[in-house]
Amino acid sequence: MAGNVGYDDTPIIPGTNWHVHDGNRPQPPVVTPGTPSTQEAPGQPPSDAVVLFDGTDLSGWESKKTGGPAEWKVEDGYMEVVPGTGYIRSKQQFGDCHLHVEFRAPEEITGDSQGRGNSGIFLMGKYEIQVLDCYDNLTYPDGSTGAIYGQFPPLANACRKPGEWQTYDIIWEGPRFEDEKLVRTARVTVILNGIVLHHAKELLGVTSHKVLTEYEPHGEEGPLELQDHRDLVRFRNIWYRPLKGYDEG
Ligand code: MG
Repeated sequence: MAGNVGYDDTPIIPGTNWHVHDGNRPQPPVVTPGTPSTQEAPGQPPSDAVVLFDGTDLSGWESKKTGGPAEWKVEDGYMEVVPGTGYIRSKQQFGDCHLHVEFRAPEEITGDSQGRGNSGIFLMGKYEIQVLDCYDNLTYPDGSTGAIYGQFPPLANACRKPGEWQTYDIIWEGPRFEDEKLVRTARVTVILNGIVLHHAKELLGVTSHKVLTEYEPHGEEGPLELQDHRDLVRFRNIWYRPLKGYDEG
């Protein structure tokens, strides 16, 4: 039946098994979109999302330091850093994905530069997309909100005011290694509050501080880590969708 919607007398598209307009080509999977978040409430994740934090508890997370329960605070539908308890990480390990994270810097301003609303989204536990309050707050550009920390500043400063919820959508393709050798660099697209901060930007290596970075071989999956930088940053509505290839319906 599928053939009825297309053509089989057209040229084969190079690099595929499919004719131009081939009706037998696998259909894209149906996904019911979610709903947008507001300042008052998080939106609904898409139908195929893997939810890492829905606002109720930290059962899907553990302490990076101890491997035991995550010790951050949960209330009113969000989690909040408890300074000194350390990074937390998802029990779920995953690879290439569309990741959605919402965060909120403290309304009360207590520091400046890297000391204001600092946290971080560590993809695969190794690659940081900076979380910081850069609303009317200067810092070194490759450490500002949405920076690929220590490597590339964002294309824009798209911060909302402290105390307002902000939304990251991150499209992540992890690096690939063969026999411990890098064969494909990691690439990331980052959208903050609807503004593109990076588009398919190739990372130079794992996140490091005050030194040049390089890659360290690892597998194709890892946890999501959130940083304890001793600021009272909140997170809500965290989910991802595995990024499948074309024709993998
Ligand atoms: Mg950070």
